[in-house]
Amino acid sequence: MRQMPTPKSFLSTQFDRARLKLTLLYLGISGCIVILFSIAALNAQRYAVDRVLSVLESRAGITERQLVSSLLGQRLEQFDLAFKQRLLMVNIALLIGAGVASYFLSGASLRSIRENVESQEEFAADASHELRTPLTTISMEIVALQKTHKRLPAPVKETLQSVQQEVRRMQEIVDGLLTLVRDDQDKLVGRQLIDLNQMWAESVKQMQPLAKDKHIALKTQLSKDPLLVHVTPDQMKQLFLILLDNAIKYTPKGGSVTITTNQKGRTVLASIEDTGVGIPAADLPHVFDRFYRVQRFDSSSTRGAGLGLTIAHKLVENADGHIQVASTMGVGTRVNLRFPKVS
Ligand code: ATP
Ligand code: MG
Repeated sequence: MRQMPTPKSFLSTQFDRARLKLTLLYLGISGCIVILFSIAALNAQRYAVDRVLSVLESRAGITERQLVSSLLGQRLEQFDLAFKQRLLMVNIALLIGAGVASYFLSGASLRSIRENVESQEEFAADASHELRTPLTTISMEIVALQKTHKRLPAPVKETLQSVQQEVRRMQEIVDGLLTLVRDDQDKLVGRQLIDLNQMWAESVKQMQPLAKDKHIALKTQLSKDPLLVHVTPDQMKQLFLILLDNAIKYTPKGGSVTITTNQKGRTVLASIEDTGVGIPAADLPHVFDRFYRVQRFDSSSTRGAGLGLTIAHKLVENADGHIQVASTMGVGTRVNLRFPKVS
């Protein structure tokens, strides 16, 4: 069986990228300083040579002047060349030194931030985990109450139902938070070769009742050949369900959602396009942020925690893929996915 190298955890990858960016930034600053230093050194050298020549020339007669420039000219050119060569070598040495120093400096600057983030994520993971048990207990007790007391007064029944709904919502948020803060190092070991087309077909089937309720047509235009990707099946399913949930949730009754898949070279492409309300251009850059929701003041306003796309982004990164959202208000939204293909 083919073994794939275990990818790094999400947090590690983020910090490696940040370290690389910081190193390049420090190196850029060092490069600017080196260039300014070189310009200053070259100017100083030119000034010194001009001064020597002008002093010599001012003290010599016309024929001696020619002699001075013919004697010194060649020497000065050699000196000029040697100076520039040395300056270049010093610059290269400085830049290499600056590169190495920048790498270690950026690592050191990010270390404490990383430790801080790790401890915060650990706290969030522990807190979410601890919240799960009481929420399950509340939910179970409400169900038991509803079963044993069938003749409860209507207002009490309604209250119990709304409490049950809120508890479910809280459970979803807690589960979402757990997915976000969980270190996926172990999860990635569970990667398998799966056919993306089959996974879409299963997910569409699962969401069909929800779409039917809203009279939304779920259409698929899947490539004929299987599209093999090396991912964690559960995570891929969760990703597709999140995207389908959004497409259905933000599409008014009677609309449609179309899933298209194909391949281009060594890349598998998938898109999910709806005829929904769309996302304002100003909100688009933020839709992957935690708890970010588009403020809607019309009938398209729905409930949600603003975690779906944040989780989707993480799941796509875990699968070494890429996700992008394009949208036009009042026309619809298209989410594009890209994954490395396994042939
Ligand atoms: P949750 O998914 O946690 O229940 P949510 O759907 O509000 O809540 P996200 O899935 O993260 O959160 O989406 C963020 C915001 O992006 C949403 O508030 C919604 O306004 C907008 N959005 C996402 N998908 C679509 C879509 N297909 N069409 C229109 N707007 C969308
Ligand atoms: Mg959502």
